[in-house]
Parts: sequence; structure tokens; C-alpha cells
Amino acid sequence: MYCVKCGKEIGDNSEFCPYCGAENPDAKKQKDQAADYYKQMYERENRPENYHHPQTKSEGMVIPLLALIFGLLGGWLGLVFGIIGLAKYKEKSNKIMCIVGIAAWAIWLVIYTYMRNFG
Ligand SMILES: [Zn+2]
Repeated sequence: MYCVKCGKEIGDNSEFCPYCGAENPDAKKQKDQAADYYKQMYERENRPENYHHPQTKSEGMVIPLLALIFGLLGGWLGLVFGIIGLAKYKEKSNKIMCIVGIAAWAIWLVIYTYMRNFG
């Protein structure tokens, strides 16, 4: 390409003319476009929805719900499903359900042990 100011031939990627120092608007535009492209790529890769796996709500809730139900009913299944749920699900709401399930199981275990030893 040629310099817009002095008309001498300059490299396609030269941002400034080496002869007169004029800015080369085409090279600058290309550079900006490249920067925009990388910025877009970066933003696309770092979008939060790419972090957790796409799961439908009902599917994602099954194991945490089981943990909660079994935990509240009392039994080892509450712990089992709680641990599976914690390992498997990233969503905060599901993790809370698993933790509540495990907590309910722990309370059940304390009561159960107490009843067996002292009841
Ligand atoms: Zn020039």
C-alpha cells in the first residue's frame, strides 16, 4: 500500500509511514479489528454460561432433592446422595440442598445413636 500523505510505498502492516511519519489509517483499522476479534473471543470463552454444563432444571435437581428427602427422613442415603450431589453439581442452590441433606442426615445420626445408647 501507499502512504496517504507522501504517496511512497509502505508495508501493509505499517501503522506509520517510515518516510514522513504519517499514520496509516488502514493498518490501524486492521489492528483495531484484530484487537476487537481477540477481545470478542476472550469474552465468549469467559462467559459464565460456559462454565457449568447445560442441564435442564428438573434433571439438575434430582440428586440434591433426593439428598434432602433422604436426609430429612433419616438414613445413610441422605449422606450418599448429598456427597454425589456436591461432587456432581456446580449450582449454588443444588449445593445448598445437598449440604442441608447431609446436615439433616448428621442430625438424624446423632439422634439415632443417642436413642440406641440411652433410649
Ligand atoms: Zn508518508
